[in-house]
Amino acid sequence: MLVLFDIDATLLRTEGAGIRAMLSAAQELFPDRTFSFAGIEVSGRLDTLIWREFMQRHGIHPTADLHGPFRQLYGEHLKRGFAAACRSDALPGARALVGALDAMDGIDLGIVTGNYEHTGQLKIAKAGFAPEVFRFNGWADDGEHRRDLPKVAMDRHGAARGSRLPAEHVIVIGDTPHDIDCARHNCCWSIAVATGIHTEAELAEHKPDLLLRDLRDGQTVLSWIACR
Ligand SMILES: [Mg+2]
Repeated sequence: MLVLFDIDATLLRTEGAGIRAMLSAAQELFPDRTFSFAGIEVSGRLDTLIWREFMQRHGIHPTADLHGPFRQLYGEHLKRGFAAACRSDALPGARALVGALDAMDGIDLGIVTGNYEHTGQLKIAKAGFAPEVFRFNGWADDGEHRRDLPKVAMDRHGAARGSRLPAEHVIVIGDTPHDIDCARHNCCWSIAVATGIHTEAELAEHKPDLLLRDLRDGQTVLSWIACR
């Protein structure tokens, strides 16, 4: 089986370090302007889409020529923030669950996230996960929509393993309706975890296959996965 984890509010929490780094990157590109994320939805969305809306809200045309420097500066500011006081903390139970899954035969792990690859990797490493356990990934740059990303991770898994896993052998774990939606769109299983801005009741409306308050009860997750 292939288990695909979302990053923010599923594996870890950065207390806004990503947003602060994006603001610093924009400020460095446009020193005469003032930037804000007020009114921009970030939870569960791709960084590429967040960036586009962020620029448009400030009257800036989001060209590819601008995107490259922005991505790079965002990474530099995030790295600097983590080297200083910014936090990236693993959520309760997340590291134990990843470790237990990594140790199981027949289970491969990956990331499906709205993060750019370079900033997602920084967050994962800062939170104490071994980045190399997540081998089959889909990042913000891998698609136009979150729905595209599980397929990218599955394609990479298939290419490495020599045969493609059927979707019923793939599980997506995330904290937002977007995570549930991208699992369902690809006919994968979905596990929703209420450690982000959405309550258990809100997530339940989107009918995930398994709904959890958090990842502390790793045994329930392991047993559920073993039964798929
Ligand atoms: Mg998330």
